[in-house]
Amino acid sequence: MHPRFLIVGAGFSGTVLAHQLLEQMDAQIEIWDERPHIGGNCHTSRDEQTGIMFHHYGPHIFHTDRKEIWDYINRFTELKPYVHRVKAMHNGQAYTLPINLSTINQFFGKAFTPETARQKLDILADHQITEPANFEEQALAFIGEELYKAFFYGYTKKQWGCLPSELPASILKRIPVRFNYDDNYHSSPYTGIPFDGYSSIMQKMIDHPSIHLHLEKKFQPETDMEGFDHIFYTGPLDAFFNYRHGRLGYRTVTFETHYAMGDHQGLAQMNYCDESVPYTRIVEHKHFTPWEQHAQTVYVKEFSKETEGTDIPFYPKRLAADKQKLLLYRKEAEAQNTVSFLGRLATYRYTDMHQVIGEALQFTRNFTDAWKANGSLPVFSNTETAT
Ligand code: UDP
Repeated sequence: MHPRFLIVGAGFSGTVLAHQLLEQMDAQIEIWDERPHIGGNCHTSRDEQTGIMFHHYGPHIFHTDRKEIWDYINRFTELKPYVHRVKAMHNGQAYTLPINLSTINQFFGKAFTPETARQKLDILADHQITEPANFEEQALAFIGEELYKAFFYGYTKKQWGCLPSELPASILKRIPVRFNYDDNYHSSPYTGIPFDGYSSIMQKMIDHPSIHLHLEKKFQPETDMEGFDHIFYTGPLDAFFNYRHGRLGYRTVTFETHYAMGDHQGLAQMNYCDESVPYTRIVEHKHFTPWEQHAQTVYVKEFSKETEGTDIPFYPKRLAADKQKLLLYRKEAEAQNTVSFLGRLATYRYTDMHQVIGEALQFTRNFTDAWKANGSLPVFSNTETAT
């Protein structure tokens, strides 16, 4: 008899897992997702009014340092060359982000060279902070107060709904500072946008006679655990345990969609760093597919707020109180061996697509090795770290 597996969630974690399980063993797999579409928060489809490929839950640009992950994704799609360029609006001026030589020169009204710009930031940086303990300290230690206040303080308060000093330093470490004119938002050697969007990649991953997808089917741990040899859960960890240790803090995003003719802002992403502007950024989707022509345009203002009730969780906050709750949930999860937890929501981490895919690939190898050896099955796809 082939084992019967249930995968809860049809985002990248669930679909990579389903695909990889069947490459490594025989099984019957059900995938349940409570939403009416696959793809999780990476879901894309063509906008009905304009025909533009639309990233329903905000911009997703595929980038990775690891050739193994790039090659894996290329099995399912053509990744078109795309360089993500972002501008940051502050005091009515559009600056380049990540902070680079252009940003520094424009901000200070100078023409620094790479060397003199380094010297300038070295003067501005707070050298008292040797081991930055949070987002704010990380910024002050590397770029100093003026640049921090202009580009990070207001945006981060709006985005996260708390002070940057409450947030982990790791959030800022996502964004480099460059002493040249390189304006590629990502530093990864492999980057691109899938020709036919992300949901079509995931659809191809699960196109298999042994995989049965059920949309608009919500998993209820109290009643749905029976009848499967193992369950893989990629939803929010606190929801699995019915929030019994309290809710893990998340920010959610609400979207305000606008239509126009032509080109609204000249690039895919414009951040609004000042607190006086209520939204965090405007994303104009046609710029993600520069190989396509569209007379119309669709652009979206993003607003961030605390996740409550049935809001979709986007960004895990991981404040100190959240981390305490997380450990309680993980302890409970680790006390059983019939459910494994993987992905952004089940591990409560701020991860990008390439990390989620890489982790699902590794997890499946660990799981199938343990399954075939009758060993103890991995409960989580990661080990929890201090940040
Ligand atoms: N950030 C900021 N100003 C910006 C862009 C980013 O302060 O103009 C901060 C903010 O706290 C954000 C974090 O840097 O949450 C990470 O930014 P990233 O662009 O990676 O965010 P994402 O695209 O995942 O929302």
